[in-house]
Amino acid sequence: MTAAQNEQEPDYDLIVIGAGPVGENVADYAVKRGIRVAVVESELVGGECSYWACMPSKALLRSGHALRAAERLGGARQAIAGRLDASAVLARRDAFASDWKDDGQVEWLSSAGIDLIRGHARLTGPRTVDVGGRTYTARAVAVATGSVPVLPDIPGLRDVGPWGTREATSASSVPSRLLVVGGGVAGTELATAWASLGSAVTLVARDGLLEREEPFAGELVAQALAQIGVDVRIGASPTRVDRDQAGVVTTALDDGTTVVSEEILIATGRRPHTLDLGVETVGLTPGDWLRVDDTMLVSGTDWLYAVGDVNGRALLTHQGKYQARAAGEVIAARLTGTPVAAEPWGAHAATADHAAVPHVIFTDPEVARAGLTEAQARAQGIPVRVVEYELGWVAGAKLHADGYQGRAKLVVDEDRQVIVGATFVGQDVAELLHSATVAIVGEVPLPRLWHAVPSYPTIGEVWLRLLEEYGRP
Ligand SMILES: Cc1cc2nc3c(=O)[nH]c(=O)nc-3n(C[C@H](O)[C@H](O)[C@H](O)COP(=O)(O)OP(=O)(O)OC[C@H]3O[C@@H](n4cnc5c(N)ncnc54)[C@H](O)[C@@H]3O)c2cc1C
Repeated sequence: MTAAQNEQEPDYDLIVIGAGPVGENVADYAVKRGIRVAVVESELVGGECSYWACMPSKALLRSGHALRAAERLGGARQAIAGRLDASAVLARRDAFASDWKDDGQVEWLSSAGIDLIRGHARLTGPRTVDVGGRTYTARAVAVATGSVPVLPDIPGLRDVGPWGTREATSASSVPSRLLVVGGGVAGTELATAWASLGSAVTLVARDGLLEREEPFAGELVAQALAQIGVDVRIGASPTRVDRDQAGVVTTALDDGTTVVSEEILIATGRRPHTLDLGVETVGLTPGDWLRVDDTMLVSGTDWLYAVGDVNGRALLTHQGKYQARAAGEVIAARLTGTPVAAEPWGAHAATADHAAVPHVIFTDPEVARAGLTEAQARAQGIPVRVVEYELGWVAGAKLHADGYQGRAKLVVDEDRQVIVGATFVGQDVAELLHSATVAIVGEVPLPRLWHAVPSYPTIGEVWLRLLEEYGRP
């Protein structure tokens, strides 16, 4: 392309870098508004979530959850004849990961009228993107390159071929012993999954489990992990890792003990996928999160957007796709000169990122939270009152499992009389979470919430119990 052509007509209105769930949605929402869109993908269309994160990890977890749910239920318990069939679970996981083939997703892109450019994209300056030596121009660029695991600097670690979350979600056999390093979401979920499949799992967590959640979440999950045989070691960190000739990994911990395993999974956090992306050509720093406003526009630019994991606002598929819906439409609106609704809670603003992010940790018990923890609310200066309730006292929960274990908590803004955070920990609480998200986003006043009557006998009746604990406003 010559410079003259470049000035006249860019190749696309919008180029999206990264065809993960977020990039796909940016492209979809933009193209539906009538602009010309291409996405660039260096690996598989569908991204981390489809092949190495959400889908395979939940498929690995689900069968164990179902088996334990049956074990907790008189009558069903007596019908259980054996253990999980690990090879059948792995085969089911393979199907959920589409056997790591993206044909279906590619077909969908094409049917949506979105061009796919295969290859590694790099920015080469404002509104220009290089893919494999060819330069493409666009009126706007959206970066949706996701995040990648951080590998801590532990002597010997790189040489032993540690598992990251990719290896832990795509492994084709069950290691007899597995060391999991990290007590966050990925560490606790994957420890649960592999222990359920028969691995002898040790989980090492320097700071405790699920530290960003309400304290009872980590406590209940630690108890449950121990019950399925996981050796949970809190307050310890690896100091050296070696693999011997027979393939056995020995990990020395700073408490003076060692752990011997076939594999070691590192689940200690993620960093933005912004290295080797050419961001330095537009004045940004490689390796940094791309900071954005609520329309996902990168600070200091009027053409560059960053959406999903890469902006660091919420490393969750559903929240990234929410940002993508806003970004795709606002990009099209700005390029076509149609009105922009970027005010808080407007169609083009991802306002919920600040106040009402929901997420589920698919451990057993599940941990489901929307909005803030008590600690986060207090740190924001919100005048807080909290109420808690044992889920095991709720009739619907008792029906779900004999000896149901779980807890729920609401964080209330006392001045505004609205809920700013809700946490549920227990079996099958994931499906309860959207009620909390709606209450938080809708800022439903507590006196009105009394009129939202939960059905009897469901786990949702905990809402009534929590309101009773709070007292009628
Ligand atoms: C083990 C695990 C389990 C998870 N489970 C859940 C869950 O249950 N629910 C949930 O909501 N979230 C979950 N997450 C988080 C979720 O996977 C991410 O939030 C989500 O994948 C982010 O989507 P994204 O499109 O921003 O990035 P990604 O899915 O990472 O996609 C980015 C895409 O960009 C491509 N790319 C990167 N750089 C370039 C480049 N320079 N040129 C071209 N292409 C490029 C990549 O190949 C990739 O396809 C999980 C994460 C992990 C690790």
